[in-house]
Amino acid sequence: YDVFGPLRIMKRGLRPPELCDTMSRVCAIFGGSRGIGHAVAQLLAQKGYCLAIIARNLDRAQTTAKNLGAGHLAFRCDVSKEEDIQNVFKEMETSLGQINYLVNAAGINRDGLLLRTKADDMLSQLQTNLLGTMLTCKAAVKGMIQQQGGAIVNVGSIVGLKGNSGQSVYSASKAGLVGFSRSLAKEIARKNIRVNMVAPGFIHTDMTTHLKEEQLKKIIPLGRFGEPQEVAKAVAFLLESPYVTGQVLVIDGGSAQ
Ligand code: NDP
Repeated sequence: YDVFGPLRIMKRGLRPPELCDTMSRVCAIFGGSRGIGHAVAQLLAQKGYCLAIIARNLDRAQTTAKNLGAGHLAFRCDVSKEEDIQNVFKEMETSLGQINYLVNAAGINRDGLLLRTKADDMLSQLQTNLLGTMLTCKAAVKGMIQQQGGAIVNVGSIVGLKGNSGQSVYSASKAGLVGFSRSLAKEIARKNIRVNMVAPGFIHTDMTTHLKEEQLKKIIPLGRFGEPQEVAKAVAFLLESPYVTGQVLVIDGGSAQ
């Protein structure tokens, strides 16, 4: 499924044709250097997408982009800063052409009981997880409208749907993404742009290394944490499903039921 006229970037001469298999599929992955975003990057690279790997740590993003193969590029951006987002979209469009797929996997958590959570930690979670995603979507949608199509997948969390003690602010940031994604999906469907979400449960990444896995897995019906690659498959499915928009796909080993 190509939302983008075939080979239009190549015709515009923005990039040498040998760099990517499918010049019509350019995907920006915020948080693509580690964890879930990294697994999404590996899967989309195999499928022939041209990728922009974006994170705060440029070295790490560059290593990821290099390991994916020729044609994928790394960019530095802190999604909690609007100026960074505006700059990175300019840089990406200059070097990769219009972005027609967007995956928002950048996220942080500052878990703790509400009474012990400082306002700064509340703000940083909301700025990164919620405002950051809103701003990357805003920047990407401008280009997608010009290209007459696009697809976005935002990474939420199961706790944004059902809540969790010790994660009230993080859950609020992820719950906010549900309303945002569903509303934006309706707002831009007529422009041939789709917006969906994944809502993962416990996934093996840097974000979950501090958790007591032996205890937690007892409450997961499938009896284990998920792997980032298992979330990546769901992200790719949503990017490539032309009649699916405004949906939240839960990937949590059955815990949500
Ligand atoms: P990781 O900590 O493994 O990776 C986070 C990624 O986001 C890194 O690439 C990191 O790079 C980037 N990132 C973090 N903050 C920013 C920022 N301000 N600007 C730009 N990039 C940033 O986390 P996961 O892969 O586990 O999480 C990915 C997403 O999935 C998050 O939104 C998370 O909330 C969500 N999620 C994770 C679950 C899990 O169990 N792991 C469960 C449910 C949802 P860098 O540090 O260099 O900026």
